Amino acid sequence: MPAGRYAPSPSGDLHLGNLRTGMLAWLFARWSEREFLLRFEDLDAERTVDGAEAQQFDDLSAVGLTFDSQHGHASTRQSERLGLYTEAIEQLTESGMTFECFCSRKDIREATRAPHATPGTYPGTCRNLSEKERARRRAERPASLRLRADRDEDGAAPKVSTRDQLLGEITTEVDDFVLQRNDGAPAYNLAVVVDDHLTGVDQVVRGDDLAASAPSQAYLRGLLYGAEAASEVVYAHVPLVLNPEGRRLAKRDGAVTRSALREQGLTDDALRDLLLDSLRLPAGPLAAALESFDPNRLPREPWVFRPADL
Ligand code: GLU
Repeated sequence: MPAGRYAPSPSGDLHLGNLRTGMLAWLFARWSEREFLLRFEDLDAERTVDGAEAQQFDDLSAVGLTFDSQHGHASTRQSERLGLYTEAIEQLTESGMTFECFCSRKDIREATRAPHATPGTYPGTCRNLSEKERARRRAERPASLRLRADRDEDGAAPKVSTRDQLLGEITTEVDDFVLQRNDGAPAYNLAVVVDDHLTGVDQVVRGDDLAASAPSQAYLRGLLYGAEAASEVVYAHVPLVLNPEGRRLAKRDGAVTRSALREQGLTDDALRDLLLDSLRLPAGPLAAALESFDPNRLPREPWVFRPADL
């Protein structure tokens, strides 16, 4: 059964922006008669906070989200799926689609690039190192693994487009992005692609700060699982929630989590209705909001949350 998903990082309490994105992901999935999965993206051990998963699950449930279980579990956790990421990396390596990279962030920032290269992209420094050179560099610094993206005759990276239900076509150049960090952890882009594909996800709804990663992820999905698997994915990158100064909402903006809002007297139903109102949907249970849901009528601009309006 095709599915949508919400994939928070368990790095603390969800704030209003996260809850609103989760609600949108649920609405898109249920509206299109998909299953809805919850996946905790906990590969960054330093950012993972004990107890955050259970809290996030409660918060999402409190505003009405329901999840379909996978193998008897209400959610999956990336740290328990490491073997799957290793397999995918091996598959790519066996077909010559990876290379070891010894560059630090500073090396990449300071490297000279070809005149046509997009600023900030990987300059190709380690793409063609000899085995001897690689052995020498390995002794100095552990390697990360990068994708060896195709190049055209002029050496330009491929341009890939994805379809987005809110943003239209998103086109970016697919860089030699990192698949495995130099501490051995699978990189975000790799894990997302493996998980989405293996759990049947063909609808990706998330914050529009991640819109530019969609073409790279679609490209990788095509390499790993075939062009059809890549082209069946529909994306919807949704506007973020901003604070009154116009910056992306963050926990330091005060009472923006469910627990903090509850202390101020906001019930779970009122929190759900606040989020629905920001989406121009009627107050009440999500099943009823679904009746009025229409992606084409969603607000396209960010929602500015002003605590004083509560
Ligand atoms: N874990 C990411 C986040 O919390 C979302 C990744 C995704 O939806 O692809 O921002």
